[in-house]
Formats: sequence, structure tokens, C-alpha cells
Amino acid sequence: MKRIRREPAPALPLVVLLSSEAVPFSKTGGLADVAGALPIALRKAGFDVVLVTPRYGSVDPAKFRLAKRLKPMSVPLGAKSYDVDTFEGKVGDARVFLIDYPPAFAREGLYRDASGDFADNAFRFALFSRSLFELCLTFDLRPAILHANDWQAALALYYLKREFAAHPLFASTRGVFTIHNLAYQGLFPPAVLEELGVGWDLFKPEGIEFWGKVNFLKAGVLFADAVTTVSERYAAEIQTKEFGCGLEGLLQARAGVLSGIVNGIDADVWNPRTDKLIPATYSEVSMTGKGKCKLALQGELGLARDPDVPLIGMISRLADQKGFDLVEAAADWMMAEGVQVAVLGTGEAVHEAAARALAARYPGRFSATIGFNDGLAHRIEAGTDMFMMPSRYEPCGLNQLYSLRYGTVPIVRATGGLDDTVDDVDELGRSGTGFKFHDATGEALLGAVQRAVRAYSDAAVWRGIVRRGMARDFTWGTSAERYARLYRGLMADALAARVAG
Ligand code: ADP
Repeated sequence: MKRIRREPAPALPLVVLLSSEAVPFSKTGGLADVAGALPIALRKAGFDVVLVTPRYGSVDPAKFRLAKRLKPMSVPLGAKSYDVDTFEGKVGDARVFLIDYPPAFAREGLYRDASGDFADNAFRFALFSRSLFELCLTFDLRPAILHANDWQAALALYYLKREFAAHPLFASTRGVFTIHNLAYQGLFPPAVLEELGVGWDLFKPEGIEFWGKVNFLKAGVLFADAVTTVSERYAAEIQTKEFGCGLEGLLQARAGVLSGIVNGIDADVWNPRTDKLIPATYSEVSMTGKGKCKLALQGELGLARDPDVPLIGMISRLADQKGFDLVEAAADWMMAEGVQVAVLGTGEAVHEAAARALAARYPGRFSATIGFNDGLAHRIEAGTDMFMMPSRYEPCGLNQLYSLRYGTVPIVRATGGLDDTVDDVDELGRSGTGFKFHDATGEALLGAVQRAVRAYSDAAVWRGIVRRGMARDFTWGTSAERYARLYRGLMADALAARVAG
């Protein structure tokens, strides 16, 4: 019998994703959800993927089946070198490397503790970003794309272009920088520059200086070959004075390489048909489970058990961005509409106190859980009828996407990703998936809540809104395809540059 010689499969192009937090290892916000899900979606889109993230104190290697790699790395940063270890594991079928340097990362918080931001954050995340290159050299990883996320990973693009541009392993590597929230820029005193190994020549307004400080995020925007943010609307908004956080000029200058790609959701983790964290599963064809989830949630949170009262959820960092002050302003009128409210959140002390005060004022009708609780977040998505996001700005927002999937109708301010992903219900309730308002005021929020309550009172109208929302597809496939297209374009540029050079 003739033997068929098989050619080895051609290697897939490698994307190295750099993120300071990633589900299931660590999370403070939406970035972690994206970093945990995108690698899996990119594998399906035809890329080899390596995710690189720090190993914080809370990451137990045994729990996540992480193997300590025996090759230690010496990572140079400024005039010093640091002995850094790595753990290796998997998310889905993508490889993950966790950068292990306990003096920097073995702490409870990711970026801060109760007394504020860690004083050495510039060093911690520069070391993280710089470690990537030793990691690639040690494990022979040849990235076609280095995709850095947010200010914590931004310096990797500086190191790529300034230190490694001519290195054979990185000569064809193209850099992508994604802004998940422009308000967090990583600002530090200029004295940190030497410790980071970043040249003083960059300390000028056209470089990474920002009003006398070093701005990490600027390094990402300046040195990336392509800059993305997490919705099309936000990509346009950040080029304006209102949303540009002082960087609108730079972002306008980079408009040619700036685009918006909306986040997807992890369809396995957030799926009412299979969710193990909710008391009863359901789908658009059989919604009885949702009613059970509502009664169970009312019981769990000490709200009056009533299947008919409109129950509004909110899960949020209680930061000014998220507009909890609008809820505070509208609360009394809102409660006069006869609704119940379930808030889960943690953040600024004033908003936490206000949430507690509302719960005390409206026992059995307004519940406030202060803390971070993933299980309860799922139960609120499943057990509420409506979901409030009165954000002042919102790069993408994930909870409105989870809400749509869980048949929970979003009430959102028309900004950023909220505006892109929710369609306003028309007057007769025949089209649309949620309720939008424009002004950042309690009155405007109240107006949207009143419209929602009116629609809720008509069972047929409400069912239509819920069904349309559940039918929308915000899973990662489409968005991963858009990243894939962007990467392929950059790889073609790199190839053309090699041929020309
Ligand atoms: P951001 O990243 O600005 O905080 P997103 O809506 O993009 O906002 O993502 C927030 C993520 O964090 C969602 O997955 C949300 O469910 C989760 N989350 C926020 N606060 C809490 C909390 N207190 N408990 C549990 N999950 C939370």
C-alpha cells in the first residue's frame, strides 16, 4: 500500500495578547472578561494565541492547573534586572503565561488596596510589559501581532518599537493597542522614567508627557500600528473634548489607524439556558425559569415576593462614570412608580453610602449589596425584568449585553457602546430592545424608567421587547472576525515592508 506523506500543517500566525487582568484568573472589570474570551474566539478565527497576564496573589496554580516553567528569566528594566518566573496554563485551547514576580504581584488587590493605588504601579506594569519580550525569547514565540490592552500593557509597544524593532524574532511583529477606558491613563511622576528604561527624549508633549507627568496610555497610542477601542461610538467620542480626557488631539492625529470593535460576550459563561449559577434555566421559547429566578432573587435579597412588580437591576462599579448619582437623584420618583430595585456594586464611599441609605429608606423594595459577587451578578441578570445603566460615558459596557441575552430589558443612557448595542423601543413598542435617554440627569433617567414601566404593564408588548433582545447576537464570533481582519491587514503590511526592504 502506498503511504501518503502528509505535509506538516502550516503554523498559524501567532497573536500575543497582553492584559493586566483576565478571567478566570483575575478581574476588576470588563477588560478581564474580554481577555478571557477573546483568545478562544481568535483560535476559532484561525490564529494561534498566547495570553500573557500577571500572577497575582489570589491566583492559586493548583486551582487553575498551572505548571511552573523551570526556565527563569532575567528581565532588564532600566539599570536593573529582575528574576521573573512564569506559570503556564490554558484558557480554552489558547496558551496562557502568567508572569510571576511576587514582590510586584503577590498582593491581594490588582492595582490598589484600601489606602489607594499602589505606589509602585509604574514599575509593576513596566516590568509586566517588558517581561513579554524575555518570555518570547525564552519560549521561542514569534508574534505576528502583539496586542496590548490598556495603560498597564501600553509600554510593551514602546519596547517593541524602540528596543526590538530590528530583532529577528520581532522584526515583522505589528502592534495593536486597545483602549478599554480612556479615563484610566496610568499617570506617574517623571522620576519613574529611569526605572522603566524609557528615554527622557520621549518626555515632551508630542511624546508620553502629559502636563508634567508620564502617561503610559500615550505610549500605546503613539507606538501601536493600529489603535482600537471597544465600540464604534466610543471611537468617535474619544476624539472630542467631552470624552477625550485631554488626549483628543492625539487621538484625532491617529484617527487614520483608530477604529472601534464592540466587545462580545462569553456565550458559555453568560447563557440562561445552561447557567449553573442561577436557580432555574430558561430560553426564549420557555420563559418560566425566569419567573422562578425572579421570585428566588426577591427572597434572597429581602424584597417583597411579587411576580408582577417591575424589578430593576443594576450591577456596577460605583464610580462617577457609572452615573449612580442619577439613580440617587431619581430614586424617590422612581420608587413612586411602584418598582423594586436590586443594586450590586462596590466603589466610591459616597455612592456605597447612598445605596445603603436608599435600601434603609425603602425596606423590602430597594436592595443594595455592597461587594463583588459573581454568582449574585448572574442571579440579578436572570431574576430582574429591567437593567439600569445610566453611565456618563461607557466605552462598551457588558452588562447591557448580558441583560439582552437574559431577557432583561436594558434602560441605558445613549452613550458609547450602550448607544451602539441597544435600540430604543418605539412609541407603540413594536421595535427596539431597550429604553434610552440622553441627558445625564435624574429626570431623564426617570423618563426612561417610566416608559419601561408602561411597556411592562402590557404583557404582549413586553414579550416582544424581551424576545427581540434575546434574539440579538453579541457573542464573540463577529467581533473576533473584525480583530482577525485588522490583524491580517497589519500582517500584509509587514510582509510588504519586508519585500520592499
Ligand atoms: P467596567 O469594565 O467599566 O467595570 P463593564 O460593563 O464593561 O464595566 O464590565 C463590568 C463587568 O464586571 C461585568 O462582567 C459585571 O458583571 C462585572 N461586575 C461589576 N461590578 C460587579 C460586582 N459588584 N459584582 C460582580 N460583578 C461585577
